[in-house]
Amino acid sequence: MRGAVIHAPGDIRFETLDDPKILHPTDAVIRTAVTCVCGSDLWPYRGVEPIGDPHPMGHEYVGFVEEVGSEVTSVKPGQFVIGSFATSDNTCVNCRNGFQSNCLHREFMSTCQADYVRVPNAQGTLVATDEVPAEELWPGLLALSDVMGTGWWAADAAEVGPGSTAVVVGDGAVGLCGVIAAKELGAERIIAMSRHASRQELAREFGATDIVTERGEEGVARIKELTGGIGADSVLECVGTAEAMRQALHSARPGGNVGFVGVPHDVAIDGEELFYSHVGLRGGPAPVRRYLPDLIRRVLSHRIEPGRVFDLTLPLEQVAEGYKAMDERRAIKALLKP
Ligand SMILES: [Zn+2]
Ligand SMILES: [Zn+2]
Repeated sequence: MRGAVIHAPGDIRFETLDDPKILHPTDAVIRTAVTCVCGSDLWPYRGVEPIGDPHPMGHEYVGFVEEVGSEVTSVKPGQFVIGSFATSDNTCVNCRNGFQSNCLHREFMSTCQADYVRVPNAQGTLVATDEVPAEELWPGLLALSDVMGTGWWAADAAEVGPGSTAVVVGDGAVGLCGVIAAKELGAERIIAMSRHASRQELAREFGATDIVTERGEEGVARIKELTGGIGADSVLECVGTAEAMRQALHSARPGGNVGFVGVPHDVAIDGEELFYSHVGLRGGPAPVRRYLPDLIRRVLSHRIEPGRVFDLTLPLEQVAEGYKAMDERRAIKALLKP
């Protein structure tokens, strides 16, 4: 089979690789229907995260079950399946508590920009649809394996509720999905922070009521202006930089909550400042598996359209161009078709 391999910053190659095999009785192998490049793939691509030896890339996937291990009974060959970027048995105590992305048997997916993928913990990880969905729905379902699930978690962790005011920091795919989630969870006012015209437009179509283009302390001042001087009930931090986290913490009102889902890079939090702010803080890798059945229903019924974050579609062999386009911010998110 063929797949993407990162060799060095800026160096993604499309190579022939060994076909994945069932290594454990709890594995499944799927044939990729569609996959994509994630904003978090750009950290190693930009040299911000060390790469080490050349290795395959990709953690977002939907596909057709090819083969299952002897202990996998929940899905069978031929079915269309969706799974999280973090695999889980869905039975251990952390899974039962709803934190499947902290499963005691968790393995992160890392080889999905390829024709075929081995999925560990298949029984607990993969959710099959009743029938093969129409191809136009595949991008929306693919978004559930990470960005839409992560945006939902950001809104859930920030305790967005009916009538609330939510601020979304970050206009990447996760931030835009966070706007969808805030709307679905009943936020009355959704303030998206974005400087890019096309992303502002999509945010508005997804339910944003206000756009703030300022950043840093100016951005915070603008949020305060829009929220009666106190800040927002809920803030979704969808970037992971120190600046974004500062902006998020300062944009929440006393008693408000920040859900942070951008993988932190050089983020430090001042304990004393947090103490006096009365802001609640919760984040981490999204427990996508918890949300999958509900989000699959919302996509299949066309209630939400997270697949619209894919504004570039490429054949899988042009995966390197997908990284380049996202790195240069020419694309929000690149969809890859085997
Ligand atoms: Zn991702
Ligand atoms: Zn578990």
